[in-house]
Amino acid sequence: SGDNISAMLERIEQDNVRFLRLQFTDLLGMPKNVSIPAKQVGKALTDGIGFDGSSIEGFVRIEESDMVLKPDISTYSLLPWRPREKSVARFICDVCKPDGTPFEGDPRYVLRRAMEDAAKDGYVFNTGPELEFFLFKMLDGRPTTQFQDAGGYFDLAPTDLAEDLRREIILALTEMGFEIEASHHEVAESQHEIDFKYSDALHTSDNVITFKFAVKTMALMRGLHASFMAKPIYGICGSGMHVNCSLAKDGKNAFFDPDAPRQLSETCMHFIGGLLSHAEAVTRVANPTVNSYKRLVPGYEAPCYISWSASNRSALVRVPAPRGNSTRVEFRSPDPTCNPYLAFTAMLAAGMEGVRQEIEPPNDAQKNIYHMTAAERGHTGIATLPGDLAEAHRALLADDLICNALGPHVVEALTNVANAEWDAYRTAVHPWELDRYLATY
Ligand code: GLN
Ligand code: MG
Ligand code: MG
Ligand code: MG
Repeated sequence: SGDNISAMLERIEQDNVRFLRLQFTDLLGMPKNVSIPAKQVGKALTDGIGFDGSSIEGFVRIEESDMVLKPDISTYSLLPWRPREKSVARFICDVCKPDGTPFEGDPRYVLRRAMEDAAKDGYVFNTGPELEFFLFKMLDGRPTTQFQDAGGYFDLAPTDLAEDLRREIILALTEMGFEIEASHHEVAESQHEIDFKYSDALHTSDNVITFKFAVKTMALMRGLHASFMAKPIYGICGSGMHVNCSLAKDGKNAFFDPDAPRQLSETCMHFIGGLLSHAEAVTRVANPTVNSYKRLVPGYEAPCYISWSASNRSALVRVPAPRGNSTRVEFRSPDPTCNPYLAFTAMLAAGMEGVRQEIEPPNDAQKNIYHMTAAERGHTGIATLPGDLAEAHRALLADDLICNALGPHVVEALTNVANAEWDAYRTAVHPWELDRYLATY
């Protein structure tokens, strides 16, 4: 409204902002932005800013490429790593068609639609992600896979050279309104995790995009490359983005029931049931790259079997110990290459289907599934997650519920991306093949 806009303009003036970045996300989860001088911001807030959508991955064909960016005023934030004088701020934007209606290919809109659907039953979907990443050395301006430190899980300095960088990142994110809950060195050399407080899934998605962008930017300022690739190095842990999920109703955690078995409500159990029944299709958006599937193998604390457990970290869905308002399920397959808006859309649609259809989950896996034989898994009915991108994409196309939640525009665009990626990968000759065959044949 007009009042909000004038308050915003005043704030921008007070903050001495000279440039505004209008930010949005493409289908692959890449942040895109256009910068405007502060003088133009009044117009941008009232009418939006037009741009050509045809060059953005997964957006539109050339004939229908006019798009409008509408800044979401609530996402205003200074970029703390830019100069303090004559500073830079950003807005996250919704992408609209020239007639002002939402664009079906805007991941933010896709998630908003799924959340409106859950709201019909009174539910708010909350998510809290745990993002892992590697810090690698750069050589001649290009990232290498050389570690920046030799630390391990929860190590302290001086092994953990990244301490100062993590501190800078946390201070900057805090200035941007993040509530950082924990940060630590992860299991692998040069691998780190920073956790921030959960929020509704839309806000969290905005935060995930901002987080990755901020970490990469600040790492680069120290001459390092922060990589969110799922499995950069064979033989050691990959990077996950575990997602802690819960539903709230009437301001209360709907997963908690003090009188139920394990103190998990029926809603919680059904949500798990839905998540597991649609897990194959969800994988396509939670693990969107060819490389994502190299992480989902036994032995590295990443899931590969479709199961849940009250404690075991080899399961796809784990229920962390806290109860009460902190009751949640941890969905462990997503990796940080995912587009959070699309991944959360698919997870919510799957979980809500479970709640609405009262889908009971199978018995929980009591033992470490990595150590079970194929026959034992067969007995307990434990299926495996898709083994590669092509299989995951076929699973998506076979799942009407998840396809509907994403919408035909997004599914078609994802199909184009999956086909192109898979063909390029399938036909390439990899170093592994040369090592294996060149000398022998
Ligand atoms: N890096 C592991 C993964 O790929 C998770 C390790 C952990 O947080 N315990 O999911
Ligand atoms: Mg963690
Ligand atoms: Mg971790
Ligand atoms: Mg975790």
